[in-house]
Amino acid sequence: PKYVYDFTEGNKDLKGLLGGKGANLAEMTNLGLPVPPGFTITTEACQNFLRDGVVPEGMREEVSAHLAALEARMGRRLGQADDPLLVSVRSGAAFSMPGMMETVLNIGLNDESVHGLAKQASGNERFAWDSYRRLIQMFGKTVQGIDGELFDEALEELKDGRHDLELEAADFRRLVATYKDIVRAQTGEDFPADPHRQMSMAVEAVFKSWNAPRAVLYRRQERIPADLGTAVSVCSMVFGNCGMDSGTGVAFTRDPGSGQQGVYGDYLQNAQGEDVVAGIRNTMPLQELESLDKAVYDELMRIMETLENHYRDLCDIEFTVERGKLWMLQTRVGKRTAGAAFRIAVQLADQGLISLDEAVTRVTGDQLAQLMFPRFADSGGEVIAKGMNASPGAAVGKAVFSTERAVELAARGEAVILVRRETNPDDLAGMIAAQGVLTSRGGKTSHAAVVARGMGKTCVCGAEELDVSVKERRFTTPSGVVVSEGDVISIDGTSGTVYLGEVPVVPSPVVEYFEGTGEADDELVGAVHRIMSHADEVRRMAVRANADNAEDSARARRFGAQGIGLCRTEHMFLGERRCLVEDLVLATSDEERERALAALEPLQRADFTGIFQAMEGLPVTIRLIDPPLHEFLPDFTELSVKVALAGDGAEKKDRELLAALKRLHEQNPMLGLRGVRLGLVIPGVFAMQVRAIAAAAKAVPGSRAEIMIPLVAAVQELEHVRDEARQILAEAGVEALIGTMIEVPRAALTAGQIAEAAQFFSFGTNDLTQMTWGFSRDDVEAAFFSKYLELGIFGVSPFETLDRDGVGRLVTIAAEQGRKARPDLKLGICGEHGGDPDSIHFCHQVGLDYVSCSPFRVPVARLEAARATL
Ligand code: ADP
Ligand code: MG
Ligand code: MG
Repeated sequence: PKYVYDFTEGNKDLKGLLGGKGANLAEMTNLGLPVPPGFTITTEACQNFLRDGVVPEGMREEVSAHLAALEARMGRRLGQADDPLLVSVRSGAAFSMPGMMETVLNIGLNDESVHGLAKQASGNERFAWDSYRRLIQMFGKTVQGIDGELFDEALEELKDGRHDLELEAADFRRLVATYKDIVRAQTGEDFPADPHRQMSMAVEAVFKSWNAPRAVLYRRQERIPADLGTAVSVCSMVFGNCGMDSGTGVAFTRDPGSGQQGVYGDYLQNAQGEDVVAGIRNTMPLQELESLDKAVYDELMRIMETLENHYRDLCDIEFTVERGKLWMLQTRVGKRTAGAAFRIAVQLADQGLISLDEAVTRVTGDQLAQLMFPRFADSGGEVIAKGMNASPGAAVGKAVFSTERAVELAARGEAVILVRRETNPDDLAGMIAAQGVLTSRGGKTSHAAVVARGMGKTCVCGAEELDVSVKERRFTTPSGVVVSEGDVISIDGTSGTVYLGEVPVVPSPVVEYFEGTGEADDELVGAVHRIMSHADEVRRMAVRANADNAEDSARARRFGAQGIGLCRTEHMFLGERRCLVEDLVLATSDEERERALAALEPLQRADFTGIFQAMEGLPVTIRLIDPPLHEFLPDFTELSVKVALAGDGAEKKDRELLAALKRLHEQNPMLGLRGVRLGLVIPGVFAMQVRAIAAAAKAVPGSRAEIMIPLVAAVQELEHVRDEARQILAEAGVEALIGTMIEVPRAALTAGQIAEAAQFFSFGTNDLTQMTWGFSRDDVEAAFFSKYLELGIFGVSPFETLDRDGVGRLVTIAAEQGRKARPDLKLGICGEHGGDPDSIHFCHQVGLDYVSCSPFRVPVARLEAARATL
């Protein structure tokens, strides 16, 4: 295979092979934009390296050939003493993982070539020595694994309170000597002077950084597969640190927070690479570049327009100005907030850059779900600071000042806000654990902002008035407010406001739009409306809701549900009705049993009537009672104690209940007397429920009942229940479909037979997942799921996202066999998976007619069902 691609050879569609960075550098090169020449080593080379521990055969030769071509083109050799070519060795995976892996700049410098570099820069010694010390620092830290603090401390000591721009050539020269001492002390060897050795060591270090702990954690969080590997781009250096006519910056073609068009970015004069993101000095807004260097600014604006039209999306970029010449160092389709995603998609459609179909693919169900979160009420709350609105949302929690504390308190179930001066990749675990992130430094492109937006986490950054002391675990405001660890604060990532104490939250305008209660007619609601209307036009699957009462049913309809996919009747047996169920269990004669059932029947009838009314003629799937009966009885231990304490004085009913509990006790209730088995064993229960459904359906003209039998494993079970139900319906003169859940593997495997007796299937994927894997959801999640996730046995819990290979296979078999036996068989899903984006796409692919999920997820399912068709 070919392991190395010149920037002129690749293109943006080769992300899998060249990583996002490499693919887009190639794309920009081919667009004729000013990109410093270079080449990219493929992710495949990285995969081989990580597997074998050595670089693959042939890679070294290819790299040498490409380097030689680069040297010829640039007219200088790597590290050449009198006129050196310098390169950066940059990581870049197929999915953007901001700051998670490593990059080394200024490769090729040593004690000789540092003079050559100064000569190149018209004798600028300061610049040459600054570049050299940066190389040793980055190389030492990322390639040789030396603690970065050692270098930072040495730098601070040298600065002795001076600003970094006040440092002179001699200072950096001294720093180089100190850094070399550190390297020698830490590794026992001299800093490698050979440029080629520097480069190959850096390439291998970048390969290895794929498996750095923070990268592993980030991938798990973002569900990025663990085996993709990173590409490595080798890029000739351009220098933003060679004077005040040079600098480095980052920019977005639109505001990633709001979607507004305009000039968004940060610029830092006389600086290199990561200085912007690291926040060593405060950056200036990009607009100010216009007055510094109009020609460069205008060119940048033109390039940004070219990129946005070319990618037909928001792009973010990294650029450097070297003595008045603009260079593009990176671009990608930029991360954005959920609100911005909706606004930008609709704006681009309005501009004619994309179709409405494509607009629907540009937003996700997860983003819509984020927009449905509540926000802070407008009034109230003591404002203590203002920062930048880096990532929207309303977060309330106790202030904590370190990742360790954030993780520790969150593990105890406490809501925390992580407060830092600035975050770095090591803070990732704390950011995940926290409700929100607050920093006192850095702009919208700082690490905290970029990572928080990617995770959909609330973030306020750059609240500069705050004096954050991580050591003392507190921050102070100019007005003298002191917030110590544990004090509650509220942060508003939509406005950038920081409040003392807990601020009350209000519903989101998007929810109010769905509810039809809000009057908000802002751009966001308009964009959501446009996207959702189009989504409803293009999707094939219907969306239903799981709802057990009239109120939830009504809300589900407002959210766009086209029916009820699962009405659980057991919820109707709880609360005050418990004693009626107890009577049913304790009944010793037919007469007693019938009396108990007769008392339950009118209550059930009233429940169903309310739901039918709320659904106004839309289908309602009612599942007959499913859980084991003892779930409705008192707790065994509690009752034993009560009876024992009362001794001879114990009430008769309590004693009888205790006896019943003993009788009904099961080792494995999940696999015991429940579902259809219960209906067949305890006479009259199912019949009572069907009578109640029939009567309610009759009382509400136009209602469409679908009676669903749970836990069927064999067609014979279903036939018994179906025959009885049919008779009751006929007597009542009511028509209703009769169907079954498919939630036992045997049912899926014999779906052809079962379909002979069922008018519809509804996949109960919660039970089907438990029974297919052979583990119980209630027990295993705490017991070993985190271990399994860590070991990569699954990438995500199979209870969250449907396991396509196993459970999905059963669903596919059942759908095919069922439809073969009965072509008009209706197919749906009513497990938790019905609201999960990936699972919804699967349901579309296997041809289900509808998904059913909780009312609040209905809009998400509508959107994802549409995206699945596009
Ligand atoms: P990351 O993925 O962390 O952004 P990059 O590979 O983009 O890492 O590089 C880190 C920083 O160094 C960025 O600011 C980038 O613009 C800068 N940089 C990378 N390569 C070069 C180069 N050849 N010349 C100048 N600056 C560079
Ligand atoms: Mg970058
Ligand atoms: Mg079930």
